Amino acid sequence: MNKTGIYFAFWEREWEADYCYYIKKAARLGFDVLELAAGCLPEMTKDKRKEIADCARTEGIELTYCIGLPPCYDLAHEDAEVRAQGKDYVKRLLSCIYEMGGKTFGGILYSAWPGRTVTYDYKMQARERSLASLKEIAKVTEDYDIDYCLEVVNRFEQYLLNTAQEGVDFVKELGAPKVKLLLDSFHMNIEEDSLYEAIRTAGDYLGHFHIGECNRKTPGLGRIDWDSICRGLLSIGYQGKIVMEPFIKPGGQVGKDIKIYRDQSDGATEEEMDMLAQNALAFIRSRQKAWEQ
Ligand code: MN
Repeated sequence: MNKTGIYFAFWEREWEADYCYYIKKAARLGFDVLELAAGCLPEMTKDKRKEIADCARTEGIELTYCIGLPPCYDLAHEDAEVRAQGKDYVKRLLSCIYEMGGKTFGGILYSAWPGRTVTYDYKMQARERSLASLKEIAKVTEDYDIDYCLEVVNRFEQYLLNTAQEGVDFVKELGAPKVKLLLDSFHMNIEEDSLYEAIRTAGDYLGHFHIGECNRKTPGLGRIDWDSICRGLLSIGYQGKIVMEPFIKPGGQVGKDIKIYRDQSDGATEEEMDMLAQNALAFIRSRQKAWEQ
């Protein structure tokens, strides 16, 4: 069975948080993986990063990392200086993740988030610039042995890679062994004709997988067709991690960036949030088990 995880921000309103607290919580709730916000790593001391990595090892939790690159680091920007800043920043993030023993880095790692509103012609030129930026970064991902997973997201968040097919065409053209794809059921629900076929299309290029409901509630509480997802992952022999990324509480920078404009948790306490996470974990594991048989 795939290792299953959760994004720490389910409980948090700010991207910066006490990561050790959430590592211990994830372990206690039965998760295998905790995903962290990579953008916080460069600002930490080396000792702090080590403390977090050590804590994860002790608790038996694998850490994965994600980010939507801020617009000042846009790897597809028309200004070469912005792209240069972006490449430097990504290399810094990769070096921090490597130092912490991380193997998986995902997100909008090919342009910026949120993406600008652009024309189709701009997109096609940005695609070339993004490929050129990633050619440079690809070498570093190989040196560090880190899967660099480009997240395919819906058009309202980014314009470059909206479907699994666009993602596959992009990574194929790049031709770098550690540059893979990250699919996310929340985004797939908006853009894909078929959840099952999208996963089939990604095939061996799928390096990481995010799950969440169509309205970002925890898996099992919305109308995502989970059987299609599990069947798809099984049919491509996906061995990677599955990380849920629910967002249901408004407030703070997380609420603003993710656009959480109502309390979808019904005022849940932290204990009730823990229960929601635990129920979603049981739900996903039971679906996987059912399809494996
Ligand atoms: Mn995601």
